[in-house]
Amino acid sequence: MSITTPPKDYAVLFLDMNSFFASVEQQVQPPLRGVPVGVAPYIGNTGCIIAASYEAKAKGVKICQVGEAKKICPEIRIVEARPALYMLYHKELRKVIEKFTPYFEALSVDEFAIRLTPLDQNREKAVELALKLKKAIKEEIGDYLRCSIGIGPSVFLAKMAGERQKPDGLTIVTLKDLESFYAPLKLTDLVGINWRLELQLKNFGINSPLSLFEKQVGDMVRILKHPGRLWYFRLRGYEVDEFVLGSKTIGHSHVLAPEFRTKEGALSVLRKLIFKAGYRLRKEGYQAAGVSVVVNFLDRDSFHTSQKFPLFCDNQSFLKHTYSLLVKCQWRSRPIFVAVSAFNLVRHDSGQISIFPEIEKSKKLSETLDKINDDFGADSIFPASMFGSRDSAPDRIPFGRPRYEILH
Ligand SMILES: [Mg+2]
Repeated sequence: MSITTPPKDYAVLFLDMNSFFASVEQQVQPPLRGVPVGVAPYIGNTGCIIAASYEAKAKGVKICQVGEAKKICPEIRIVEARPALYMLYHKELRKVIEKFTPYFEALSVDEFAIRLTPLDQNREKAVELALKLKKAIKEEIGDYLRCSIGIGPSVFLAKMAGERQKPDGLTIVTLKDLESFYAPLKLTDLVGINWRLELQLKNFGINSPLSLFEKQVGDMVRILKHPGRLWYFRLRGYEVDEFVLGSKTIGHSHVLAPEFRTKEGALSVLRKLIFKAGYRLRKEGYQAAGVSVVVNFLDRDSFHTSQKFPLFCDNQSFLKHTYSLLVKCQWRSRPIFVAVSAFNLVRHDSGQISIFPEIEKSKKLSETLDKINDDFGADSIFPASMFGSRDSAPDRIPFGRPRYEILH
């Protein structure tokens, strides 16, 4: 729990597909487009509608039994659920999101939480990413798929913002407008407040999210014990829900000093970051199956790409993969920020070993260098290519425990 980390605006982007199962059916079966559709595991009258298209929702169909839905909307088309098809679309969504960022987590088959990196934590960048995601989903997966996106200081608030406008919404909630954000809501509109908790709160005279928000932390603890404390901070944008994003990622980022704002300078700093991240990867006993690299430029242009690779944990592979991604980077302006990370980490002892003997050899070499640096101090030994960048990304704490700069 990070009650100690103050919340920041534009920290999380929450993407929620609208009427997902029904939209996927409308995507693959064009005759279903524009008409009320209900998806049910069993299509008999006692079966339950698990998703309704927007056309069906407009007629008043909610999560209910098939028979009931037919009474409300006689022209509704009932479709038998196809979980494997929805999982396929889920995987396609993951692939699209992965193209933009490795820092995301699927919270369900149709919900994704994306952690924005510090340089993207502003209105312009966050909105730009949201619009790019919407466009990519339409263009690369299906033109009938829509999503609502919420942007906020925490997963809780971003999710709540996403609920605000459906379908195809984009809503931002910031710390300074929390009061007006909560004002129109009912208690049960808050994710995590059910009718039972609502009753408990109403017994204490708390009748709305706004009145809950106005309570002092002491009152909250008196009313709800420990969960009261969590609610106090949760409503203020703190990430209290132990939310870990993405498969584990190890990465480092660095804002370039003026003398490193050239292609060569940026590459030398990136090399340094790769060696730091590679060191951590091995120290923590992981192998990685993906690399992500970011270069931001002075003219606000940004290069960001990520890709999967065969398992590796040695510096040479890490460098090679990063360089292969950077081939596509246009260096039209001066670079000001670089970040690199290894993602899709698996435990070394998971039994998966590299199929390439040269990677094993390179891994041994990297481990030997790690050992010498551990014994003799940070950067006793470093590749010649790092010369010149050794002091450009200084470790704030000893090399044995480099800090996370992107993930916390
Ligand atoms: Mg949804």
